[in-house]
Amino acid sequence: MALLDIDNLHARIGGDHGKEILKGLSLTVNPGEVHAIMGPNGSGKSTLSYILAGKDDYEVTDGAVTFDGENLLDMEIDERAAKGVFLAFQYPIEVPGVATMTFLRAALNAQRKKRGEAEVSTPDFLRLVKERAGHLGINQDMLRRGVNVGFSGGEKKRAEILQMAILQPKLCILDETDSGLDIDALKVVSEGVNALRSPDRAMIVITHYQRLLNHIVPDFVHVMNKGRIVRSGGKELALELEANGYAEYQQDAA
Ligand code: ADP
Ligand code: MG
Ligand code: MG
Repeated sequence: MALLDIDNLHARIGGDHGKEILKGLSLTVNPGEVHAIMGPNGSGKSTLSYILAGKDDYEVTDGAVTFDGENLLDMEIDERAAKGVFLAFQYPIEVPGVATMTFLRAALNAQRKKRGEAEVSTPDFLRLVKERAGHLGINQDMLRRGVNVGFSGGEKKRAEILQMAILQPKLCILDETDSGLDIDALKVVSEGVNALRSPDRAMIVITHYQRLLNHIVPDFVHVMNKGRIVRSGGKELALELEANGYAEYQQDAA
């Protein structure tokens, strides 16, 4: 069974006169697969990720989304998270006064509670964080600081991947995780993501540029334009886009 099945999804910005942004998008993602979604700015990539995560500014007007055999669109945002949908935000928010460590534990416990599981014990949590943070080059000082407060671009992304490593989602959605990263930070983040690849976990990696895909090598690449997937292929499609740009797609759909 597919982990995620998006069928003919149409969506607009909330309100009766909202602009339609997704215009018949279909995508099937199986466990273990990494799908890259590329495309020009404004094609609806972030809108797709927000709709999957359950952000409520959007209204789905047609189509269906099934996650693990259930209707994803019927679920509240926290229910989606508890079932294993994770969205790494393109512009992570700062949460002053809440230590990153505390935030991570609260996020994990919220999901466990929703699933009817007991809270994680302090020693278990500390062990988990220590192990996962170490792999990502995240030190104690960073974990004590407020969420994202004073974090560099690279630190924010690493914190995001740490959150993912602790929550162990079934579906990871990374929306322009590469934006603003230098090559060293990109490597650390990519290694963190690659370490989370597993036969029972799928990833959707959204990026405007090809370079991230040198490090996180996708199984499938899709080109999105004007609210639809207009082409799909293997990892070589990303290289073709790098060479030729998106101009042909922009003309095709005009
Ligand atoms: P991408 O991530 O591919 O750059 P987006 O999903 O951010 O594309 O945007 C798709 C289109 O929807 C763009 O034309 C954008 O201007 C519009 N859009 C996105 N969010 C909003 C919003 N909150 N209000 C109005 N228009 C929006
Ligand atoms: Mg389908
Ligand atoms: Mg975007």
